[in-house]
Amino acid sequence: MKRETSEKLFKHSVNVIPGGVNSPVRACKSVGTDPLFIERADGCRLFDADGNSYIDYVGSWGPMILGHRHPEVIKAIENVLNRGTSFGAPTDLEAELADLVIDAVPSIDMVRMVNSGTEATMSAVRLARGFTGRDLIIKFDGCYHGHADTLLVEAGSGVATLNIPGSPGVPEAVTQYTLSLPFNDIDSVKEVIEKRGAEIACIIIEPVAGNMGMVPPAEGFLEELRAITEKNGIILIFDEVMTGFRVAHGGAQEGYGISPDITTLGKIIGGGLPVGAYGGRREIMEHIAPQGPVYQAGTLSGNPVAMAAGIATLKQIKQPGFYDSLNEKTERLVKGLKNAADSAGIKTTADSIGSMFGMFFTGQAVDNFADAKTSNLELFSAYYKGMREKGIYLAPSQFEAGFVSAAHSDEDIDTTIKAAEAVMGEIA
Ligand SMILES: *Cc1c(COP(=O)(O)O)cnc(C)c1O
Repeated sequence: MKRETSEKLFKHSVNVIPGGVNSPVRACKSVGTDPLFIERADGCRLFDADGNSYIDYVGSWGPMILGHRHPEVIKAIENVLNRGTSFGAPTDLEAELADLVIDAVPSIDMVRMVNSGTEATMSAVRLARGFTGRDLIIKFDGCYHGHADTLLVEAGSGVATLNIPGSPGVPEAVTQYTLSLPFNDIDSVKEVIEKRGAEIACIIIEPVAGNMGMVPPAEGFLEELRAITEKNGIILIFDEVMTGFRVAHGGAQEGYGISPDITTLGKIIGGGLPVGAYGGRREIMEHIAPQGPVYQAGTLSGNPVAMAAGIATLKQIKQPGFYDSLNEKTERLVKGLKNAADSAGIKTTADSIGSMFGMFFTGQAVDNFADAKTSNLELFSAYYKGMREKGIYLAPSQFEAGFVSAAHSDEDIDTTIKAAEAVMGEIA
């Protein structure tokens, strides 16, 4: 495959943008290569600047559940452009998207729109602290909740990929209120709550972890978290920025039948434009300004173009049977990838929940971040590069999830499995 144009564009970008990218993992550093520059995308395919085409399992890191350039989403964006691009005053579109979110996610009575997942989680934690009058928060190792200071502790995603222990620039005074515990370990949660329960404002968790690779919750873990937080007046925040509208229409909370106090959303609800949101029980949400004292604001929040893309997307995925066929395709893909590894004698642990999937290059079960880190990263890099060379575009990190979209056909899945069989054979 030709790479000259991507290489040239990267050389220029590195000179004017730190690392040549506007988000770290895109740089492909951990897999020992350079990024492809994308010219355009359509359906499940990406086309790079050199004219190569790829079947895309990154989906812009989660939002593109309908695939790229879905006609209804493009039409909605084009239509709203005739009205203008930003007013800094309310529009009908904000409540329309709010209604779609509230209808889908059972625990949300009210929702506030922001511009990214980072803003959503940062604001949700502030709200939990404001509501409870407590300062401590609990998160879990390997979960990523965006890059706000308080949440950059033992974080997943790029922080894990680049092996950054914490981040310079985040004062200890800020992170002293953040306790990070092992994912799926209810005993350590109980221990901390026993000692300091009355100081803890919230527990924030990815109900299905997707930023240390994909790690599902252990049987009963989320139920126990719900019970113990309720008993101790601690706000339970489900960070569903990735899982919302992805693992089920109503998110992981619908799938596992658990009602958190606050939910954060992003990715899919923006239909490929920058949107985040946080919502929850009415009595909690009423603490947000201007109704209550907890301050949070945004010049471009509820942006009409982003709202229109989100509305069009959420309308499409409401259609009956949407998730059944998507999930089936994902299951078949993961089985195929796992079989390809097995046949080559490569030990892997692979799984999918809804249309979110992951594969670790380790023989052991993966229940937490420590387990995830036993994955053979050299093998992963070789796999990543081999697949890319065969026209399959995966996240350039072991510590990320993959996504299937409605635009992937059975044939695309077959092509991907065939590529994996060849690559696994080469790297074994
Ligand atoms: C992507 C993600 C975020 C951060 O969202 P941004 O839009 O990148 O700021 C937060 N939490 C989870 C679970 C995510 O997957």
